[in-house]
Amino acid sequence: MAAAVAAAAAVRTRILQPTVKLFIDGKFVESKTDKWIDIHNPATNEVIGRVPQSTKAEMAAAVAACKRAFPAWADTSILSRQQVLLRYQQLIKENLKEIARLITMEQGKTLADAEGDVFRGLQVVEHACSVTSLMLGETMPSITKDMDLYSYRLPLGVCAGIAPFNFPAMIPLWMFPMAMVCGNTFLMKPSERVPGATMLLAKLLQDSGAPDGTLNIIHGQHEAVNFICDHPDIKAISFVGSNQAGEYIFERGSRNGKRVQANMGAKNHGVVMPDANKENTLNQLVGAAFGAAGQRCMALSTAILVGEAKKWLPELVERAKTLQVNAGDQPGADLGPLITPQAKERVCNLIDSGKQEGASILLDGRKIKVKGYENGNFVGPTIISNVKPSMTCYKEEIFGPVLVVLETDTLDEAIKIVNDNPYGNGTAIFTTNGATARKYSHMVDVGQVGVNVPIPVPLPMFSFTGSRSSFRGDTNFYGKQGIQFYTQLKTITSQWKEEDSTLSSPAVVMPT
Ligand code: NAD
Repeated sequence: MAAAVAAAAAVRTRILQPTVKLFIDGKFVESKTDKWIDIHNPATNEVIGRVPQSTKAEMAAAVAACKRAFPAWADTSILSRQQVLLRYQQLIKENLKEIARLITMEQGKTLADAEGDVFRGLQVVEHACSVTSLMLGETMPSITKDMDLYSYRLPLGVCAGIAPFNFPAMIPLWMFPMAMVCGNTFLMKPSERVPGATMLLAKLLQDSGAPDGTLNIIHGQHEAVNFICDHPDIKAISFVGSNQAGEYIFERGSRNGKRVQANMGAKNHGVVMPDANKENTLNQLVGAAFGAAGQRCMALSTAILVGEAKKWLPELVERAKTLQVNAGDQPGADLGPLITPQAKERVCNLIDSGKQEGASILLDGRKIKVKGYENGNFVGPTIISNVKPSMTCYKEEIFGPVLVVLETDTLDEAIKIVNDNPYGNGTAIFTTNGATARKYSHMVDVGQVGVNVPIPVPLPMFSFTGSRSSFRGDTNFYGKQGIQFYTQLKTITSQWKEEDSTLSSPAVVMPT
């Protein structure tokens, strides 16, 4: 009887929850699937919506719409495409708070941090508006008599994007605006856990004048991903997410002849020198380790205290204790919940593994209770010290509000630890000595280095240059490399002779 009542309640919940639509050929349409995934508010674990696992026919219709829209969009003047993006950046600014609200509801991060999520994506849209300079080709006149050589960049066709849950606005905005301003059409698959921001961003792009079919959105998990990797009309895939998914997508997509760029997991080290500005460094470490509940690929999740800086550990702990853990929409919240109960369990198990393997837990956030949000996936700031590189909590990306702390006597030892770690996403050094900063920046084998900057994510006129196990592919996201990824070069060699200089015999020899 109780089971029947519970089942009826579950059905009622499902019927009442709003469903996320597909976006195909300019229309927001209800999926005909019978497979749905619940979306939860991570602060309460209440079901707040349902996202469809798109059917094969829906996914095929979305790619067909991209393909149909491509020739006209590619032929649309670059100035007109630029105008769409100029209107788009304005509409994103006007709707920034609404997008942020959706992010906090589905993803859990604080409202201020969610606004930052939108803002950093907006910067990429603004950068994409420079397409008229970014997409220029090259020319070399007079390579021989009457002959000129020039190249130009052309769109690839249909491109696709697969996004993670942790930046619901910024990461989709790394993808389709850059691809589309180059003249490509785009198939987006947002994270099934946080589709809301992408849907609103799609509506705003339509309102900015993007023609029907230029952007299409499907939803789902593995089947949608396999569909994207295998579809012959998709020429390039942009992926951001975990190594497990990214390596699989890179391998499967590449095997099918597609360009693939895959940004993946990380273990980012902050090296603290004893000559650093202590006050700044401790504040930066705490902010970068625990902000967004550590669910950032550039979170500074590992500290290496060098020499006398080891003595700063008690103050680091005191500062971490001052952070307010609460639902993201509550005033004063510094960090919100983790995305799912499973993510919380995984993080708690990794903390436990540190204890089992001989580390010391100086601050333990596992038992935290947040008043009014007792069912949320909260973990408070946690600091594990005496960590060794062989320990599980060091080797795995924790992706939670956990700072693991190692100690060394010298900078050289710290550099060795960072370079022996397989990931190469980001790192930071804290020092007041320029020579130390220079040595670290040059010797460390990590793609993005901060000097007294804890989260060195490059602005969009540069590119996101994570390296080693944090990246697969050869062309990075946004900046000049983003334009390269979404375009192919065509090179023209042309000869225009005066009328009286006609060839007198066939040219059978290779021209020199
Ligand atoms: P995820 O890999 O679980 O999901 C990312 C996307 O891949 C989603 O759209 C999901 O539907 C799909 N997916 C998930 N598992 C899959 C599988 N086995 N096969 C095929 N597709 C699959 O990642 P996440 O949990 O959403 O995001 C967190 C991860 O993303 C972390 O590892 C983080 O470091 C990484 N990340 C990296 C960057 C970067 O720029 N390097 C930025 C943000 C997040």
